[in-house]
Amino acid sequence: MAVKPAEQAKFEFSVPVVVIGAGACGLTAALSLAEQGVDVLVLERDEHPTGSTSLSAGLIPAAGTRLQREKGIEDSAAQFAADISAKAHGQNDPVVVRAVAEASGPTVDWLIDVQKLDLHLVEGFRYPGHSQLRMHGPRSQSGADLEGMLLTAAGSAGVDIITSASVEDLYADGQGRISAVGFRRPDGSMEIVGCDAVILACNGFGGNPDKLRQYIPEMAEAEYFGHTSNTGDALDWGVALGAQTRDLGAYQGHGSVSTPHGSLLTWAVITLGGIQVNQNAERFADEMQGYSEHAQEVLRQPGKVAWDIYDARCEEPALAFQDYKELVAMGGVRQAGSVAELAAVTGLPQAALERTLRVVETCVRGEAADEYGRDFTGNIPLAPPYRAAKVTGALFHTQGGLAIDSSARVLKADGQPLPNLYAGGGAARGFCGPAAFGYLSGNGLLSAVVLGRIAALSFLTTQHLISTSRNKK
Ligand SMILES: Cc1cc2nc3c(=O)[nH]c(=O)nc-3n(C[C@H](O)[C@H](O)[C@H](O)COP(=O)(O)OP(=O)(O)OC[C@H]3O[C@@H](n4cnc5c(N)ncnc54)[C@H](O)[C@@H]3O)c2cc1C
Repeated sequence: MAVKPAEQAKFEFSVPVVVIGAGACGLTAALSLAEQGVDVLVLERDEHPTGSTSLSAGLIPAAGTRLQREKGIEDSAAQFAADISAKAHGQNDPVVVRAVAEASGPTVDWLIDVQKLDLHLVEGFRYPGHSQLRMHGPRSQSGADLEGMLLTAAGSAGVDIITSASVEDLYADGQGRISAVGFRRPDGSMEIVGCDAVILACNGFGGNPDKLRQYIPEMAEAEYFGHTSNTGDALDWGVALGAQTRDLGAYQGHGSVSTPHGSLLTWAVITLGGIQVNQNAERFADEMQGYSEHAQEVLRQPGKVAWDIYDARCEEPALAFQDYKELVAMGGVRQAGSVAELAAVTGLPQAALERTLRVVETCVRGEAADEYGRDFTGNIPLAPPYRAAKVTGALFHTQGGLAIDSSARVLKADGQPLPNLYAGGGAARGFCGPAAFGYLSGNGLLSAVVLGRIAALSFLTTQHLISTSRNKK
């Protein structure tokens, strides 16, 4: 990946905006531009766009949406921003977080009402750290459906997407103004397209083992569960252009990926009262810290595995997730009518399992404090029939990236924006501070979808193609 002198770029056609990457960020940006009549070209490395977006549960957190109001849920951008920052211990960029929280509701409303995406509000459980029900996603709760809906909308809007187009070069002048983009085709040939602006929507560096070893050594050997085409190219271009990078050690992990099936097992089973035990049938951490930091906790256990232990009641919301249904079909969820049977189907030592469940029940009943500090308020004691699934910890995506301002413009070392470069999703610095602990559920798609839209509206404003703020949309 390189930044080359602008004068070396020889191109036959030019578009106002090139978007690199056709995941949630790139497609949302492209839809926002197409809606205003701007010719936008999306360049996507893969033959068929999927991205990490397709691997996700497709859940986008947003505050103040129409769907929330219809359910009588009182939420606000201020509350949402406070939740994001609380999870990150205040170690993120409050200005960007506030801008994103403010734009989240209007963006999700726009996706539903204008772009006709069939999104619903997830009810029945709240992810750790969210003070309100604010997850919006496809009814299947599958990111593949979110990506599919965005691609359909892009098709209807006439967005041009060139697939099998791996961007390698940006062409820029001495001020860092990008005038063209070079991409490689499967036959090895290079093509160059001119542009007035570039939106980096090519996610982070989870698919690049060298960068992982350099920036996130603690997860370099863990299973990477995201999209392998995300090799951190935005970082290379940004650094070559003199951009600031921030929080490169940050990432979204997940402490509940079924093994050996490799399927995401939603944390909903935990939030409703489920627990995790290691192979000795012992708990080892406060599960309600968050699933991201729990990846490391699980990886520290014998064999790098744990068991999610829950019951049929906790399973109910999970049954709405496509991933979970597939896991059940694959035999990844074991069932038991008693603790003895639970021990038998998991191979966990029965006496230790009985002891752990007894202690947890005492905590749930408020008769003792949890030794790991978990607050069981509102939970109901686990009861047969039980469920159990063997899980491991995994890396989902990286959260560090290029520093941006609240208009998604990439910032140089001196804090000034580069003239015409925007970033969103995993390409940009996320909202979780310097490490995994700061990841609030949904920060990934929040950054992708909302910053994608902000980047596009920011470009439109700069070009005087729209004159009002993003929140009026
Ligand atoms: C299993 C799993 C579950 C998740 N669940 C959730 C969830 O429910 N909610 C949530 O908020 N987040 C979730 N996430 C995180 C979320 O998926 C990502 O944060 C989000 O999809 C990022 O979107 P994006 O558009 O930035 O990147 P992507 O969707 O990964 O798209 C980036 C695209 O850029 C392309 N690309 C890369 N480099 C180049 C190049 N040089 N040239 C051309 N194209 C390039 C890639 O091929 C890819 O298609 C989950 C992640 C995983 C792995």
